Amino acid sequence: MNSGISGVATPMAEIQETLDGLLCRIREAGEKQIGYPANQRIDYSPLFPFLDYSVNNIGDPFHASNYWANSHEFEQDTHYSVLKNVRVLNARYIMIKRQENGEIDYGDLRDMIRVNRDVPAVIMANVGTTMRGAVDNIPQIRHILDELLVSNAYIHADAALSGMILPFVPEPQAFGFDAGIDSISVSGHKLIGAPAPCGVVLTKRPHVERVGRAVEYVGVHDTTLSGSRSGIAPLMLWYALNRYGDDGLQDLVSGMLENAEYAVQQFNRHGLKAWRHRNSVTVVFPKPPREVFRKWQIAPEGTEAHIITMPHVTREMIDELVNDCTAPLELDPVTSEERD
Ligand SMILES: *Cc1c(COP(=O)(O)O)cnc(C)c1O
Repeated sequence: MNSGISGVATPMAEIQETLDGLLCRIREAGEKQIGYPANQRIDYSPLFPFLDYSVNNIGDPFHASNYWANSHEFEQDTHYSVLKNVRVLNARYIMIKRQENGEIDYGDLRDMIRVNRDVPAVIMANVGTTMRGAVDNIPQIRHILDELLVSNAYIHADAALSGMILPFVPEPQAFGFDAGIDSISVSGHKLIGAPAPCGVVLTKRPHVERVGRAVEYVGVHDTTLSGSRSGIAPLMLWYALNRYGDDGLQDLVSGMLENAEYAVQQFNRHGLKAWRHRNSVTVVFPKPPREVFRKWQIAPEGTEAHIITMPHVTREMIDELVNDCTAPLELDPVTSEERD
């Protein structure tokens, strides 16, 4: 497969061959994708015609723009970039310790806020950490701020995956604006399964108004940090949310949670100590032998690994993985290059 750029026009047949090869590889990889939070079970083909156009959402979606090929109406109520704003503005930062279960260490958080009273506290709370699916206790973080009489504070909830899970479970951990957050971000390519990376940031209107500027070139009132922004991304989100509906998402989430629990039980039944947090589809288990990583797309961390029971992850896949983790020698041995 030739994926380089030679500088001369390539015959279509050759381009097609290269694309077919890539598609084949991506399809195969998808069949062994069990460790990353990307939903692969949704058909986006109705959006194909939009790829013939440069749909660009430059500027604030709530104000008209001179560039008409946009999908701003599909973005409204949704807002990007608060996280970028916070990062850019916040030059000094402190990493807070975590507890063994992956949740923030509230004692350490309290100490750090107490000894840094001279600066505003901008807190990045996790609603579902990447490795262990832990959810920080937002009301408790608010309580610490109140107790220390910190008036200048901001809590951002990073809810990349769990932001689409917790609204659909019977007893969710508190993570919304009513629990004391100032903004929240949710990824579009995780549970929603968008085929290109995208996401949503929601915040309160006064936070947005502080960064707004008029930009004559594109005729927009700009509340964003970046220039061009995908106009296809909001269509992908809109399409998936409408296809599933709240009931569909609830079914999806309960199926995922049931499979996560199934995975925990299967691992444990085979003598591998596995666990997960409440309302989490991230199943943590002891890091398996290297051969297993060659067959499955799984993320390791130290002595652990995890799988994420996204909608395309079946019980058959879980059974096969558990089997591979307990009897890895039946797989092809690794080559010497792969050994390091
Ligand atoms: C995946 C993930 C991210 C990254 O989000 P992207 O939208 O993929 O950039 C951030 N935080 C958490 C907790 C995540 O799981």
